Amino acid sequence: MRFNALQILKQGLTGNRGWAPQWRNPEPKPEYDIVLIGGGGHGLSTAYYLAKKHGLTNIAVLEKGYLGGGNVGRNTTIVRANYFLEGNSQFYSHSLGLWENLEQELNYNVMLSQRGQLMLCHSDGQRDAFARRGNAIVNQGDDAELLSPEGVRALVPYLDYEQLRFPIYGGLLQRRAGSARHDAVAWGYARGADRLGVDLIQQCEVTGIDIENGAVRGVQTTRGSIRAKKVAMVAAGRSGQVAAMAGMRLPVESHVLQAFVTEGLKPCIDHVISFGMGHFYISQSDKGGLVFGGDLDFYPSYAQRGNLPMKEHVMEAAMTLMPMIGKARVLRSWGGIMDMTPDGSPIIDRTDTKGLYLNCGWCYGGFKAVPASGDCFAHLIATDQPHEAASRYRLDRFKTGYGLMDEEGTGAQHNLH
Ligand SMILES: Cc1cc2nc3c(=O)[nH]c(=O)nc-3n(C[C@H](O)[C@H](O)[C@H](O)COP(=O)(O)OP(=O)(O)OC[C@H]3O[C@@H](n4cnc5c(N)ncnc54)[C@H](O)[C@@H]3O)c2cc1C
Repeated sequence: MRFNALQILKQGLTGNRGWAPQWRNPEPKPEYDIVLIGGGGHGLSTAYYLAKKHGLTNIAVLEKGYLGGGNVGRNTTIVRANYFLEGNSQFYSHSLGLWENLEQELNYNVMLSQRGQLMLCHSDGQRDAFARRGNAIVNQGDDAELLSPEGVRALVPYLDYEQLRFPIYGGLLQRRAGSARHDAVAWGYARGADRLGVDLIQQCEVTGIDIENGAVRGVQTTRGSIRAKKVAMVAAGRSGQVAAMAGMRLPVESHVLQAFVTEGLKPCIDHVISFGMGHFYISQSDKGGLVFGGDLDFYPSYAQRGNLPMKEHVMEAAMTLMPMIGKARVLRSWGGIMDMTPDGSPIIDRTDTKGLYLNCGWCYGGFKAVPASGDCFAHLIATDQPHEAASRYRLDRFKTGYGLMDEEGTGAQHNLH
């Protein structure tokens, strides 16, 4: 069924009883050409592009829980292409380009809202760094505007411009950045992949990876063994555990990142605002909730919930930047598991095992990467050659030290990126 205005009218007039399930619920087959481990944003988009662009449809996505139940449905939905370093800037630029056509591509409303993202700066040095970054972004072909303190005040008058701890020196604005509805992205890719013949298998945990003579042969799962010519690991926060099944030790640490949402309010914040100095960022959802978050919980964990010290820290930063937020009531908070690499940039690569591929290390920025990651990972799996937009995301950079992409310049400590 194609989604369009006529369909909504027809279903509305007939009691909404005609909507078909958005994907099948197939039993796993004993063998596939390609098995993808992980039904998050990256696994689903990879499956979609493998089928759509490369005509490969004998594929299964194996998900241990339910589709979209991982980080893809837990993030704060920011989409942007304002990275500085070569490698990252091309990749995220490619991703933003795909975002801009995603709704037409998938025939699905992912609610992309290019409301603009503003990063605040609080010192002369930071403003200079933003000017340099902005120039790099513009050279890359994307948009960036350096705003003066007055420019920031005109755009977002409700911030506290009198506070002395972190005075606002200006900001870097990307107007094409914004947000998208996270679970709609997962559902849109799932529906698109399913329609092209991909089997999406939920409640199917991979418990082992079969390797013989240096080549992958398939996987062991809670629903039996599945043979496969190629296996792709795309399990985000669980990447370290999944790769260990293939005897690999990844340069990844898993950390919890929390987020928060308030009760629904009338529209008051119409941009995405990042307050790096205080480790705080915020936007307002279409339902009216203020959606915000901050830093990692600072210790490795596989818990999908956070602890109180970081909650306190985030609330303090929020009050410092915009005291008006103190009047809003927090509705709920949650956490997701981030796969943090030592340079804060991801990995899309082959492994030393023939037919075994790896996609991970998205840290807390992997939602905006979903379209390009799927496109580039599908290209790698189908052709055995890296996609040009992701050619720098090599695993061996952590062994050789060559080609590291430390966007934040914080050094090789996973939780600092
Ligand atoms: C609070 C929070 C805020 C964030 N905010 C942003 C943001 O604003 N912008 C942004 O770009 N990014 C953001 N992120 C990061 C982004 O959500 C992640 O980087 C990205 O979603 C990770 O990729 P994924 O969608 O494939 O992960 P997931 O959705 O976690 O997918 C991985 C899947 O693998 C499955 N799996 C794991 N092990 C197995 C196994 N053994 N067998 C089968 N299946 C398995 C899991 O169940 C899971 O569904 C945020 C994350 C969090 C938690």
